[in-house]
Amino acid sequence: MLHLPWPSKETDEAAFETGITTKWAAAPMTRHYDVAIIGMGTMGSFAAVELGRRGFSVVGFDQFAPPHGRGSHSGGTRVYRIAYPEGTGYVQLAQRAGELWDRAAEQLGTQLLHRIGMLYMGPSDQAFIREIEESASTNRLSMETLSAREVYRRYPAFEIPENYAGLFDAQAGWIDVDASIRSSHEYAAALGVECLFDQPVKGWEASATDVRVYLQNQTVTAASLIITAGAWTGNLLHDLRLPLAVKRKVIGWFDPLVPELFARIPVFTFPENAIYGFPSVPGLGVKMAEHIGGSYLPHADSPVSAPGPADLDPISAIAARYMPKLAGAYSEARSRLQRSATCLYTMTPDEDFIVDHHPRFRNVVFATGFSGHGFKFAPLIAVALADLLLEGKTSLPIGFLSLSRLSPQVSQTAV
Ligand SMILES: Cc1cc2nc3c(=O)[nH]c(=O)nc-3n(C[C@H](O)[C@H](O)[C@H](O)COP(=O)(O)OP(=O)(O)OC[C@H]3O[C@@H](n4cnc5c(N)ncnc54)[C@H](O)[C@@H]3O)c2cc1C
Repeated sequence: MLHLPWPSKETDEAAFETGITTKWAAAPMTRHYDVAIIGMGTMGSFAAVELGRRGFSVVGFDQFAPPHGRGSHSGGTRVYRIAYPEGTGYVQLAQRAGELWDRAAEQLGTQLLHRIGMLYMGPSDQAFIREIEESASTNRLSMETLSAREVYRRYPAFEIPENYAGLFDAQAGWIDVDASIRSSHEYAAALGVECLFDQPVKGWEASATDVRVYLQNQTVTAASLIITAGAWTGNLLHDLRLPLAVKRKVIGWFDPLVPELFARIPVFTFPENAIYGFPSVPGLGVKMAEHIGGSYLPHADSPVSAPGPADLDPISAIAARYMPKLAGAYSEARSRLQRSATCLYTMTPDEDFIVDHHPRFRNVVFATGFSGHGFKFAPLIAVALADLLLEGKTSLPIGFLSLSRLSPQVSQTAV
């Protein structure tokens, strides 16, 4: 077993502090690991690969069997974009993540990021388009500007008004969610990582040198811990009182009226509630969803109601308005919706992620609050978590994702 950079010491019961209020007494597992991971969905599966690649002994737990439809990675596909208008901090991270997706494709033997381009459409004088243009120009990203007619000539699927522009980013595209998570688990297992599914973690405790992870009937020990529990992270870091809120989101798939028009379109987006969509996939259709909007849930385990008309009508309205050959007029559009699903966003107040050490334990790190835009960064978050854990810091520019920005008191008064 490799040794971590902090000194090992004899187990000292008094030194353990709980990270969750319930204390569990269970039989210890005989094996001791370098790193335990709670949550093997998006971020946890990539973290497992990164640590396995660096030669550490790793065990990862998930309460379900990812990919699944209960957390934040349901729906099959995710947008990869670089020209972030939300703040330039993400532009550099998205570029670096793009390189890591390409590396992951080589390692995992399957293409995960499909750089088919992304088309942003909206009134040329409004913030939605101007912010993307500004981001591209500030960060020297190549971005092609198209008139409404040029958009139609190139992609007759889109019929936007004359005063709209199209911005085309050839570097953007979509990521295959299920292939990413499945192939990460497979590769992690090949590197010796133990991926244990349908194993809800009931609690954990840490001392300066060790952690204990409590399962229903077992206790696992490790030198350090990564918490990547998505919408459930607030429960596992209860004592930090993280300002996280869980939002229910809805996705719909349309069966296109004119399928050939929608097979080769880029990823696309419109200003209304930042509605976005993907090219048609045979058997599934054209996926569309609203980034803005959605209803808050009391917590991640609250019942999530099935999508209804109030969720899906706004998407149908946009489809009818800008893509009449997708689902026809608004009155007919709902009949072309062939599938829908729900998914959870874990929101922070500023919609920036939290990636940091636990304020009391240098051997515990966590990543949460991905606020509906984290998937594209998964291999980069994995590198950041591994760096923070193993080296105490990272050279990746993630300072703006620190816990202390949200509430300086949180980091000082914790536990
Ligand atoms: C509808 C929708 C669309 C999105 N679109 C995009 C997009 O286009 N581009 C983009 O970049 N991002 C997008 N995102 C965001 C992105 O998918 C998330 O940021 C990302 O999946 C979050 O990963 P995670 O690892 O935090 O959560 P998850 O992938 O949900 O993983 C958390 C895991 O922890 C497990 N877990 C929790 N508690 C426990 C416990 N006690 N014991 C054991 N296991 C536990 C859960 O079962 C789960 O598998 C979207 C999200 C949604 C919902």
